[in-house]
Amino acid sequence: MMIQQGDWSRREVLGLGVAAGVTMGVGGAAWGDSAAQASMPTGVVAGRKPKNIIFMVSDGMSMGVPSLAEPFGHLVRGRGTHWMALSADARVSRGYFDMASLSSLVTDSAAASSSWGSGSRVFNHCINVLPDKTELTPIGALAKSAGRRVGLVTTTTITHATPAGFAACVYNRGDQHIIAEQYLGKVDVLLGGGVEYFAADHRADGKDLFNEYERAGYAVRKTRDELMHTSRVPERLLGVFHRGHLPYTIDQNNDETLKRDVPTLAEMTRIALDSLAPSSKGFLLQVEGGRVDHAAHANDAAAIVWDQLAFDDAVGVALEFMRGNPETLLVVTTDHGNANPGLNGMGPNYSTSNECFERLAEAKASVGVIRHELRKLRGEDEDAVTADEATDVIRSLAGITLEKGDAQTIANTFSGTWPNELNHQHRNFVGLMGQILGNHNGVGWTGVSHTADWVPTLAIGPGQEHFGTLRRNTDAFVSLTGLMDITHVNPKMSPEKARQYAAAAREEDYFAHCA
Ligand SMILES: [Zn+2]
Repeated sequence: MMIQQGDWSRREVLGLGVAAGVTMGVGGAAWGDSAAQASMPTGVVAGRKPKNIIFMVSDGMSMGVPSLAEPFGHLVRGRGTHWMALSADARVSRGYFDMASLSSLVTDSAAASSSWGSGSRVFNHCINVLPDKTELTPIGALAKSAGRRVGLVTTTTITHATPAGFAACVYNRGDQHIIAEQYLGKVDVLLGGGVEYFAADHRADGKDLFNEYERAGYAVRKTRDELMHTSRVPERLLGVFHRGHLPYTIDQNNDETLKRDVPTLAEMTRIALDSLAPSSKGFLLQVEGGRVDHAAHANDAAAIVWDQLAFDDAVGVALEFMRGNPETLLVVTTDHGNANPGLNGMGPNYSTSNECFERLAEAKASVGVIRHELRKLRGEDEDAVTADEATDVIRSLAGITLEKGDAQTIANTFSGTWPNELNHQHRNFVGLMGQILGNHNGVGWTGVSHTADWVPTLAIGPGQEHFGTLRRNTDAFVSLTGLMDITHVNPKMSPEKARQYAAAAREEDYFAHCA
């Protein structure tokens, strides 16, 4: 297997694939023969409104992630990404969001999704609630009141911050058991993880939310089979396929049970679109590739590229839908950078960067699974892990043979001995592993937390012109509501006024849920 470096011929083939769809479907209807088209070099026709809106978020996707997913796609499955094809297509609008929150230049997912979902900046860890506890109306509720159907699809718990930002309202994003109740009757299609927030035997209050959703007319699905093999896709659908988050794609790909029981993001997106599409007044669907963010927090290069490809497959499903449903606006973006992975120049004249990168294809497990396997070696009597054992586990699961000293360093952490790590963000197992594996796969990381970068945004379909420049995150709400003929304006709080609430918010377990 070789990386097809700068493979522009392949890109053009991909571009044609998308463009063909655009010309016959989206383009034909959306851009058609309008006189305005002649004066718009990108082919954008301003002023049209979409019937349907699909808003897709690869959570925590630093710009290095799609840059790496493209050659990785060629490497492991012989094709590139929709992200690159869209980016290279002049008819697609390309812009950025400034995602700062009310409390920090660096947002968390709760404040990020709330900014899109309510048009107001809130403190990190809050979902559509201002610092003085004023509750905001999320865009999902507004869309629903306007007669549109609403869907949320994610690879995290369905009650996690990004989906919740479109349809829930809680001061503390950790209150996922409350978010699970708030969706009832307000969101038509819910697909993701998080059984623990719906099942009576997991909830502290003993409520059986699966039962309550069923009584409210939702079809409840708990396995991939149940989801995929129904003759008619129900109008109201709650599908929850794992106790917590859905597994990383790399772990699912290497586990027959997970492959059988858990649907992919692309499969869930297809079902959600099948369910929502018959709506006469259109729909608002948010789709999140949520574990890209988790892989970044874990400095896990193999996990991040596999999950980005899974997200990209879901983008492909949305593009396919648009061919038959041209009155659809597709926005593809992320909510913040995270640890900003990048492939470093390796070796003399960077001559070994490619072969380092190709090692990612040999990985068979996430760093989380590797850590779990190493922990198991300690056994009942908490034995030390030896350097040889660490070498064997990491060779078989990460496809990388560590140097003796590095293997010893990893092994020592299981006995509580840590090296003097100068970057404090990396003073933990994943930070250490990320750096040590980076010596072999070439991928470096800034830390293990979110970053303040402006985030890239792609948009195609009626209304795409709203997403063609650098915008403030809250502008997304103004644009999306405007495109849905919704006039609601939520209250806002200035950064100056918010300052008086900052200290109190910090005391309220401020960072506990900011993962
Ligand atoms: Zn996020």
